Amino acid sequence: DQNKFQAIISHCKEYGFVFPSSEIYDGLSAVYDYGQYGAELKKNIKDYWWKSMTQLHENIVGIDAAIFMHPTTWKASGHVDSFSDPMIDNKDSNKRYRVDHLIEGYAETLDPEKSKALLDQMEQLLKENDLAGLKTLIETNNIKCAVSGTANWTDIRNFNLMFSTQLGSVTEEANEIYLRPETAQGIFVNFLNVQKTGRMKIPFGIAQIGKAFRNEIVARQFIFRMREFEQMEMQFFIRPGSQKEWYEKWKEERMQWHLSLGTDPAKYQFKDHVKLAHYADAAVDIEYEFPFGFKEVEGIHSRTDFDLKQHEKYSRKKLQYFDTEINQNYVPYVIETSIGLDRMFLLTVCNAYEEQDLSTPEKQDSRVVMRFPAKLAPIKLAIFPLTKRDGLPELARELMDECKQAFHCFYEEKDAIGRRYRRQDAIGTPFCVTIDHQTKEDGTVTIRHRDSMEQERIPMSAVKALVLSKII
Ligand code: ATP
Repeated sequence: DQNKFQAIISHCKEYGFVFPSSEIYDGLSAVYDYGQYGAELKKNIKDYWWKSMTQLHENIVGIDAAIFMHPTTWKASGHVDSFSDPMIDNKDSNKRYRVDHLIEGYAETLDPEKSKALLDQMEQLLKENDLAGLKTLIETNNIKCAVSGTANWTDIRNFNLMFSTQLGSVTEEANEIYLRPETAQGIFVNFLNVQKTGRMKIPFGIAQIGKAFRNEIVARQFIFRMREFEQMEMQFFIRPGSQKEWYEKWKEERMQWHLSLGTDPAKYQFKDHVKLAHYADAAVDIEYEFPFGFKEVEGIHSRTDFDLKQHEKYSRKKLQYFDTEINQNYVPYVIETSIGLDRMFLLTVCNAYEEQDLSTPEKQDSRVVMRFPAKLAPIKLAIFPLTKRDGLPELARELMDECKQAFHCFYEEKDAIGRRYRRQDAIGTPFCVTIDHQTKEDGTVTIRHRDSMEQERIPMSAVKALVLSKII
C-alpha cells in the first residue's frame, strides 16, 4: 500500500490540496502548506467538528486562546519536565532516530511472540524513563546494527519537543516562552472565566481549534506527523467520581462522529493505552487504517483533576466549582477528546481516494475520483455551459449567481465536457451541472453524480435545493 500512499501524496500536490512548505527553497522538513482545495477541505472538516461540538451540544461552548501562554503554564502542566521523547543518533550516517520507533520498526521484522515480548519490555522502560535500560535492550537485540550496519552511535537522551522563543527584545531567561504543544492548556487556564461568564453548570465542555507545535524528532508519513499542526480539542468538566461513565460516553460519541461521515466501520478501531500519561487514569486512541497501517487519529483521555490542580498550585488561584445540587466545592474532573485536524484531513483524503478502472472491451479508460462526503467536499457544484456560444454561458451564470451564496460553486467553459467532469472527480466535487441547448427550451439541465457517474435531467430551478439537501 506504500504505492497507493505515494499516489495520494502526488495527487494532493497535483490538484492543489497540499504543498511542501517553502517549496522553491526545497521545502522545510515536516511542514506543509494547504493549497486552494486543501484549505477548503480543511475548513469544512473544522466546521463539521465545531458544529457537532458547540451548536449541537447546549452545554459545550467554544473559545480561541492564544498560542503564546505564560511560561509557568508549561511548568504546571508537566511539559517542561516530561514532554520529551528518547532519541539516539547514528554518528556515521548522521541519522536521528526516536528510540521507540527504532525498536518498533525492528519488532515488525520478528515473529509475533518475540515482537510482543520486545515491545512489552520497551513500554516498561519508557514508562520508567529508564534510558540505560533502553540502551541495553537495543544492544542485546543488536537492533542498531540491524538498522544501519554500523555500531557508531551516541547515547540515548531525552529530547524536549517544545519550541521556545523570546518574548520581547530582551533575551533573558525569564522571557523565554514556548509555542504551545497542545491547545488543552488554553482551556484549563480559562476554565473559571468561561464557567462564570457563561454561567455554565457542570457537566459542561469547552472546545477549541488551534495550532500546536512539536519539534518531532522524526517526521514521517507526509502530514501524519508535522512540526506545526492543528488540534481540535474539547475538555469536558465533570463531577469527581463520574469519570468512568463520561469517558465511555465520549468514547462512543466520538466514534459515532467519525462514522457519521460514512466511513466503513471496519476501517476504525479503538486502542487502549498501555502506557498512561502522567495526567490520565484512562486513555484510548481512535485508530484508522491508513495505507501504512492502523494509526491514531484521535485520543480520548480521562485527565482526572490533574491539570486544574496543578494550575491551582502554580498560580495560587482557586480553580473550583460550587455544585449547588450537592452543596459542595470541588476541582472538576476532565474528560478530553483530542483530534488532529491535519490527521483527519489525511484520513479523509486516504478514505476518499480511488483509482477506478472504467475500461470497456472497446476502450481502456480510468479515472481518479475523490469520494469525499458531500459535506466536506471543497467544491459542491460545478457549472458548465456546453459551449461558449448561444447564450449558454449567460444561463450558467444565472445558476452560479443563484447558488454561490449558499455553497461553493465552480464555473468552467473550456474543454470537452468529459474532461471537465474528470477534473471535478479528481477534486471530489459531488455534482456537476451542464447547461445545453435544451435548457433554453425547457429550463432543464443535466446533473451528473460523481460517484455513480449517472446523469439525469432536472429543472434548473431544482438544482440549488438538491445540492443543499446533500450537504447539511
Ligand atoms: P503520537 O503518539 O502520534 O506522537 P500523541 O499521542 O502524542 O501522538 P496527543 O498528544 O494525544 O498525540 O495529541 C492528540 C492528537 O493530535 C493526536 O491524536 C493527533 O491526531 C494529533 N497530533 C499529535 N501530534 C501530531 C503531529 N506531530 N502532527 C499532526 N498531528 C498530531
